[in-house]
Amino acid sequence: MTIAFEHSYARDLPGTYLRARPDAAPAPRLLVLNQALATDLGLHLTEAEATDWFSGAALPPDADPIAQAYAGHQFGGFSPQLGDGRAHLLGEVVAPDGRRVDIQLKGSGRTPFSRGGDGKAAIGPMLREYLISEFMAAAGVPTTRSLAVVATGEEVWRETKLPGAVLARVAASHLRVGTFQFFAARGDRDQVKALADYAIARHYPDLAEAANPYLALLDAVIDRQAALVAEWMGLGFIHGVMNTDNMAISGETIDYGPCAFMEGYAPGTVFSSIDHQGRYAYANQPLILAWNLARLAETLVPLLDANQDKAIEIANDRLTGIASRYREAWLAVMRRKLGLLGTDQGDAALADDLLTAMQGADWTLTFRRLADEAALRPLFADFTPMEAWLPRWRARADAGVGAGVGAGVADRLAQANPAVIPRNHQVEEALSAATDGDMTPFHALLAAIQAPFAESEPYMLPAPTGFGHYVTFCGT
Ligand code: AMP
Ligand code: MG
Repeated sequence: MTIAFEHSYARDLPGTYLRARPDAAPAPRLLVLNQALATDLGLHLTEAEATDWFSGAALPPDADPIAQAYAGHQFGGFSPQLGDGRAHLLGEVVAPDGRRVDIQLKGSGRTPFSRGGDGKAAIGPMLREYLISEFMAAAGVPTTRSLAVVATGEEVWRETKLPGAVLARVAASHLRVGTFQFFAARGDRDQVKALADYAIARHYPDLAEAANPYLALLDAVIDRQAALVAEWMGLGFIHGVMNTDNMAISGETIDYGPCAFMEGYAPGTVFSSIDHQGRYAYANQPLILAWNLARLAETLVPLLDANQDKAIEIANDRLTGIASRYREAWLAVMRRKLGLLGTDQGDAALADDLLTAMQGADWTLTFRRLADEAALRPLFADFTPMEAWLPRWRARADAGVGAGVGAGVADRLAQANPAVIPRNHQVEEALSAATDGDMTPFHALLAAIQAPFAESEPYMLPAPTGFGHYVTFCGT
């Protein structure tokens, strides 16, 4: 077949990208292909086509690859020029349901934005992105998707020599907070406006009619991002590198690098080897959300009002509201995770008090097992605080059913709380086997995390005690 690529980004936003060609992979070998996603997108690909097109070995007809420009605050410091240093946007596809998505290769070679980098990626990090993004999708969290990972037959140098790979990523778009920052930092108001108009048309078309479309855009991004981070917190997900260039205007989770899931609940959990200050620790993510959104708001100030003081006042007003908008989104997630119907004044305290009571207990399984005290107890070193908390929860979750919890609550817990998450020790085992040429553990783990609400041992069990402190490395 051919892929009917469209190129609205390249057409509508000249000056925001440079043309660049993917490198030709010398000996491409398909490691994993997401046929279900391909079908959803209306792509009926043979494995040979997927192998060639998603490795860079051949350019699909109609592809017109570009590397996008962006800037970004990385760990708080501003880099005015980042851009796609190892990614090529092949073009956009309009799915049968009308959704427009980008298809981008990652790890496909150097571009004009590569700086000192080699433009490549190793098998491990690309399979990690595939696995975790597909889990997020299965768990119902907005995310970019993974269409394929193809080994290139090339070796890449990191700490050691590793087999290279390319990931084919599907995204609602690759517009980032950092894309706006790139042009705002250059004082290019027209280009910021063009980006905002494009973002509205592509992601928030209803806002074009708003009295102040750019303020409406800021509001919409705040809402989607607050909802997104609330979902991350619900899953114990730690993105690991919440730089402004890794924050999508669409509200999808993007750029899976050193991300990982918390096991025992500890708000300060950090996995990334480079996050020495804990800037992107689990419990810091809502604060970083607000910080990143402030950077987006700054870029939009010139569009908010002709009077600059007034524009700043409007932006500040929105920024002040982020904390409570996030808190509301988080509370909605927690109500769902606790199996609560409706709302009650005491819900926030109930959720907060559970966090206090469950320090150290497995994040995922605690929620999953709330209705089954015999299974819950072994997750806790000290169950005493839970003995006080559980009756409060039962009373709220299932008022009127006496001391036990009704089947309705248990069902709601099972639907809201995954049994299986990508556990660090399982991910590590799958990726290291894949690096050594054995894809069997990866495919078994993938099958388990694609049905996260089904109980499946051994994938739902916490790491064995000998696994030790887990450290992740940036996705390069
Ligand atoms: P990330 O940490 O993946 O969000 O990437 C930050 C920036 O570094 C982006 O501009 C990437 O395109 C760039 N980058 C990361 N890895 C490489 C690489 N191996 N070669 C060239 N550029 C890279
Ligand atoms: Mg990035």
